[in-house]
Amino acid sequence: MGIDLHCHSTHSDGSLSPTDLIKLALTNQATMISITDHDTVSAYRDLPSEIGLHLVPGVEFSSAWRNLDVHVVGLNVDPYVVDMTLVCNEQAKRRLRRAEKIAKKLLSKKLIGSVDAALEGVKKIAKGGTIGRPHFAQYLVEMGSCSDTGAAFKLYLSAGKIGDVKDEWPHMREVVGWIKSLGGVPVLAHPAKYKASLSKLVSMVEDFKSFGGRSIEVASGYQNPETTKLLAGICTRFSLSASCGSDFHSLEKRWSQLGKTQNLPAVCKPVWDEWS
Ligand code: AMP
Ligand code: MN
Ligand code: MN
Ligand code: MN
Repeated sequence: MGIDLHCHSTHSDGSLSPTDLIKLALTNQATMISITDHDTVSAYRDLPSEIGLHLVPGVEFSSAWRNLDVHVVGLNVDPYVVDMTLVCNEQAKRRLRRAEKIAKKLLSKKLIGSVDAALEGVKKIAKGGTIGRPHFAQYLVEMGSCSDTGAAFKLYLSAGKIGDVKDEWPHMREVVGWIKSLGGVPVLAHPAKYKASLSKLVSMVEDFKSFGGRSIEVASGYQNPETTKLLAGICTRFSLSASCGSDFHSLEKRWSQLGKTQNLPAVCKPVWDEWS
């Protein structure tokens, strides 16, 4: 379809710079993309002078809903206003506090040598981007505590494991409010990735809409077509628009190709109708 409204650059946990992401998007014949880094819009200060496609300013905020980390993408936000800088700075502080807690947990299992060295290590790996669990995964591999980053997540960093620290993110209501006040469209990211039961997912969407959410990612990354159909049904039931995004992070993850997303089912109202 050539529209990809969810991907990551080196400004968070992606492996390509914004310039290289845009180059790849053009190679893959994308016509509209959004770079949606975790809790930062700094990619939008690091763009090439010639873009050559419709770049929709975006961000992926981390939030809390019940016992889950829920991600809310903000599309068509203004990345240059002071309020955006303020909320991103708050999120960066939360990420640092969380990183310290993660490091303490990993130390308690003797997976790292010291909290300070681990914090230095993950900052070096993140190269100035927002610090997240993928950087810890890489650090655990560098330390020889895990054979690869997949194992690091499986054993220590994924939901419910020791390095999964939950108490830092603002409530989904607050994050949806930020996006609205920044002029953007709040989109519930990758709804099928929360491992929630169908009734819990429906409650999540119901709450999301009541807080002012407007859209859900009906097509996310590589996804079973049955899941896409189910999400399209939820989307129309709640009169929300539909978004699509690869959640591309790096070329090594071959199941998620930049600019290659499933077509939205015909019943869906595309999110880009909200700004174009
Ligand atoms: P964080 O933003 O620190 O909560 O880290 C979440 C990020 O970790 C996601 O955006 C993915 O890029 C990555 N991630 C989450 N779960 C896994 C997993 N099981 N294996 C590999 N990467 C993962
Ligand atoms: Mn990520
Ligand atoms: Mn996400
Ligand atoms: Mn993402």
